[in-house]
Amino acid sequence: MNSAPLVVVSGPSGVGKSTVVAEAISADPGVWLSVSATTRAPREGEVDGVNYFFVSPDQFDSMVESSEFLEWAQFAGNRYGTPRGPVQERRAAGIPVILEIELQGARQVRVSDPTARLVFLAPPSWEVLEARLTGRGTESAEAVAVRLAAAREELAAQGEFDDVVVNADVQESAQALLDFLHG
Ligand code: 5GP
Repeated sequence: MNSAPLVVVSGPSGVGKSTVVAEAISADPGVWLSVSATTRAPREGEVDGVNYFFVSPDQFDSMVESSEFLEWAQFAGNRYGTPRGPVQERRAAGIPVILEIELQGARQVRVSDPTARLVFLAPPSWEVLEARLTGRGTESAEAVAVRLAAAREELAAQGEFDDVVVNADVQESAQALLDFLHG
C-alpha cells in the first residue's frame, strides 16, 4: 500500500489539540484534518461541516450500522466518529491526513491500520490541564469533572503512543507534529 501517512493526534480534552493542529495546518496547508461526526451539541461558534458534522443519535446509529466509520467512541456522554471515505480518498490522492481523536479511537486505528502513527499531546502539568479545561468555559462544571476523569485515564495511556509532545508552546508543538508527520 502506497498511500499518504495517517497521523492520529490524541490527548486529554483541554490539552490544546485543536489549537496545535490548526497551527500545524496553517504552516503546512498540504495536510488535511478529518472532520468527525458527533452527537454533541455545537458550541458557540462551531460550524456544521467545518468543526464537526453534528448529527442526531439516530443518524449516528445508522452510520455505525452501515460501517461508515473508520473508528468511533463514546466520550463524556456523547459519540464521536471518523467518516472512513474522505480519509481514504485523501490518502489515496497523496494527501497526509490528521485525525484528532480520543484514546479509544486511537486504539481502534492502531489495530485497523498498523501503518498509522500515533502522537500524544500532553499538558505541561495536571494543574495546567485543569486550569485550561475549567477556564475555557465551554462546559458545565459537571461536564468538566467527567472530562477530567477521562483525562486521568488518557494520561496513563501515553506510553502506547509512538511519540509524546508536551504542549508548553503552541508553535513548538505544531512544529513537532509536522516533524513527526513528515519524519
Ligand atoms: P470535544 O467535545 O471537546 O470537541 O471532543 C471531545 C473528545 O473527542 C476530544 O478528545 C476529541 O479529540 C475527541 N474526538 C473528536 N472527534 C472524534 C472522533 O471522530 N473519534 C474519536 N474517537 N474521538 C473524537
